[in-house]
Amino acid sequence: MKKMIKILAIGAIGLSAQQAQAITIEFDYGFDTNNFFSAQAKSTLNSAGAFFESRLTDNLTAITSSGNNHFNVNFNNPASGVNATINDFSVNADTLVVYVGGRNLGGSTLGVGGPGGFGASGTQSFIDNLETRGQGISSQDFGPWGGAISFNTTSSWYFDSDVSTDADLPGNENDFYSVALHELGHVLGFGTSDTWNSSHLDSHWVEGTLSFVDGVSQEAAMDPSIIVGTRKHFTDLDLLGLRDIGWEVSAVPVPAAVYLMGSAMLGLFGFRRKS
Ligand SMILES: [Zn+2]
Repeated sequence: MKKMIKILAIGAIGLSAQQAQAITIEFDYGFDTNNFFSAQAKSTLNSAGAFFESRLTDNLTAITSSGNNHFNVNFNNPASGVNATINDFSVNADTLVVYVGGRNLGGSTLGVGGPGGFGASGTQSFIDNLETRGQGISSQDFGPWGGAISFNTTSSWYFDSDVSTDADLPGNENDFYSVALHELGHVLGFGTSDTWNSSHLDSHWVEGTLSFVDGVSQEAAMDPSIIVGTRKHFTDLDLLGLRDIGWEVSAVPVPAAVYLMGSAMLGLFGFRRKS
């Protein structure tokens, strides 16, 4: 009798470790032909990716093109806005690939981002896996291979080297970390997925919507704009939006030790000036 209890306990530990495994976001700079990304810009983008990596615990199947199984992805080339296609694409389990770059987006738009599309041919089981990556039907969950983000090359940017503090944000520059979080939200399906669109009319929260970050009031990250010289973290409401889309969002950040083991629609993000 005692022995059986022990075995069950071991099983439970194994299960919780499995659930705590986080997703990985891989940024690909192969289309950054306008050279928007400096080393510092990449570092700040990685910080934004790390936020989602620490909170999303979905299990996404791998997609492997081989033989007669062809997975051809398309997305907006971040340097041109023109549709780009990569044939026989593959992506690892629990991983998203995001193509990033910059171009002149014009006016007050800081960034555009969204999930990628695809075409495919192959066996039925190969095709069935592509839409949600092992998470059921697309009207109920969202499991993209990744997507693309473009940042405005003509905007004045602040690339924070330490996003653990909001201090010292220059008042006259746009906080790249905030905009990266926002555009990654669109890649993850906020305003851009079937599961979002089935229950929401707009691709953002209403302008000025308030929520909380660690108990402190803040305008939501996924409303349409941000004030120059300010930072917006992903709020409780923004995370609820991701949950609504079908993402598994951990209540608290996944511990770093566990985490280490372990035709696209676009969202526009304009900024408003202080008046
Ligand atoms: Zn947006």
